[in-house]
Amino acid sequence: MPNAPQLRFYTARDIDSLPQLQALTAEQRLDMKAVAAVLPFRVNQYVIDQLIDWSNIPSDPIFQLTFPQRGMLSEPNFKLMRELIAKGAPQPEIKTAAEKIQRSLNPHPSGQINLNVPLDAQGKRIPGMQHKYRETVLFFPMAGQTCHSYCQYCFRWAQFVGLQDLKFAAREAEQLVEYLKRHKEVTSVLFTGGDPMVMGAPVLRRYLEPLLGKGLEHIQSIRIGTKAPAYWPYRYTSDADADDVLRLHEQVQASGRTMALMVHYCHPRELQTEAAQAALKRMRDSGAEVRCQAPLIRHINDNAETWRELWDLEVRLGAHPYYMFVERDTGARGYFEVPLVKAYEIYSQAYRAVTGLARTVRGPVMSCMPGKVVVDDVTEYGGEPVIVLKMIQGRNPEWVNRTFLARRDDNATWLDQLKPAGKPWFFGDELQQMIESGNARPWENV
Ligand SMILES: *Cc1c(COP(=O)(O)O)cnc(C)c1O
Ligand code: SF4
Repeated sequence: MPNAPQLRFYTARDIDSLPQLQALTAEQRLDMKAVAAVLPFRVNQYVIDQLIDWSNIPSDPIFQLTFPQRGMLSEPNFKLMRELIAKGAPQPEIKTAAEKIQRSLNPHPSGQINLNVPLDAQGKRIPGMQHKYRETVLFFPMAGQTCHSYCQYCFRWAQFVGLQDLKFAAREAEQLVEYLKRHKEVTSVLFTGGDPMVMGAPVLRRYLEPLLGKGLEHIQSIRIGTKAPAYWPYRYTSDADADDVLRLHEQVQASGRTMALMVHYCHPRELQTEAAQAALKRMRDSGAEVRCQAPLIRHINDNAETWRELWDLEVRLGAHPYYMFVERDTGARGYFEVPLVKAYEIYSQAYRAVTGLARTVRGPVMSCMPGKVVVDDVTEYGGEPVIVLKMIQGRNPEWVNRTFLARRDDNATWLDQLKPAGKPWFFGDELQQMIESGNARPWENV
């Protein structure tokens, strides 16, 4: 078993003292501090020692993934923050300026708050849950709202608080169970965060075990979305409670359900260390299904060869490629986004280069307001250049597996920038109605 490095985190405070950053100029470090004042930055010793190639900064993909980059803020915002930091402005002043910028960056995209949060039996909103697609409930355990390191393209900072409270976990789990008992249409529960695998095994157990009880026979699978196997593989090998985590997987499997780990790997290097491979092997040996997903991100993985290598390696190590996402319409998207047409080309080129074993992947996928939409083709229709889109998850289950056409736009990076080609999109009126009525779960009305 590989020996774990010390579990040590670095934040904005450490930018000037971190030995590896001495290769940069003081000006460059000031740039990083300006960005880190607005967007969350936290990285651990494993990522620093084993994932980043320090001979290649700043362009190294894992450095781009985990360290703040100047281009992540718009030029005026960047200048403002840099000035405040350079002149040593008082903390409250820096904080006020940072919060103003944060609020301008669309922190809760795609109707996450208004349309996805379900109601309890008394009609009150249940805050830690989202129920957007009929079969699957997303659950955000309060104790899992932080991560082993932060991806710079992520904007879940709005919820990065972290709280390891057993009593709270039990109360939350009770709410989840109560909801699921009333909703027999749900067959899958997906734990997400942050990263639920920042939780210790006893806290995790408080959430998982109640789902195996009576009255919940309709729950066929429990999924955990995590990046721990990439950022802290010792979670599954040498952490004190690593074995307990694996026992939990076994318990879920033994109840007749699928334990699925939805792992976020965004670069092959995350799978090349001895620790990462040992972790994946232990996860699989516990009987868990491992599915891999990641966004397509400029500066990190925006070329076909990286994806081909990633998918091949995943399959070789016994995991299944699942989704290639399009970078969300939030946060520092200007720095990280890739146009949809280019995303389609990268995806296709990588897809053509792998065997059918890796073609379990679907993408590029936008997780947007109406549902999950895949860019399925860039072609011509009736003499007009078009983008063919396909709904693979929908707020209305009847929308799933239907295609629709957009006028080709080589600069568009998200669905809301596209215009229908020919007739209006089939879901438009119904979606509008959902937004106006605030009722976005049509299966509940029948
Ligand atoms: C992706 C997603 C799911 C899970 O969808 P699957 O296609 O079953 O993987 C569930 N809820 C939301 C809000 C999602 O974005
Ligand atoms: S691990 Fe997931 S939730 Fe955490 S920062 Fe990365 S993308 Fe965001």
